[in-house]
Amino acid sequence: MLVDIAKLALVPIDFAFEKVSLSIPRDGGDIEAIVSVKGEVAKDNNIYKVKGNISAELSLKCDLCLKAFEQHLDLDFEEIYSDTQDEDGEYILLSGLDNKIVDLKPAVIGNIILNLPMRIVCSQDCKGLCPKCGHDLNEGDCGCERGYINPQFEQLLGLKF
Ligand SMILES: [Zn+2]
Ligand SMILES: [Zn+2]
Repeated sequence: MLVDIAKLALVPIDFAFEKVSLSIPRDGGDIEAIVSVKGEVAKDNNIYKVKGNISAELSLKCDLCLKAFEQHLDLDFEEIYSDTQDEDGEYILLSGLDNKIVDLKPAVIGNIILNLPMRIVCSQDCKGLCPKCGHDLNEGDCGCERGYINPQFEQLLGLKF
């Protein structure tokens, strides 16, 4: 995902990359993603402003039941590139021998990571795995005693006579 900006002047340069395979680093295992990115690079004095859209198909694994599932992510992003870093370290450095290449990959990966939930679940009411036997509780109960009290019974137990 490299954009050559050697000829960039007043008119922004458009870019479009289709279905690029990326690995998104995450604790517990990288996430494989097929990513399409489009947008433009505009020059503003010594900095280069990138504006674009990321459309990603993520191959996720549920943190609770470990089931594999696909999820689509669509987001807009903006980043600033420069050949020198600013004080706050917010610029992404240009690549290439003469600093005329915008490498979109770190920006795309960073923006996808920012938009991942803390906990990845296959559905909001995923029941997870039985901690005793590993059975997927979404497919029904395994019969293990897990010290779990049905909330309805809990209410009854709390009744004072
Ligand atoms: Zn799940
Ligand atoms: Zn069980």
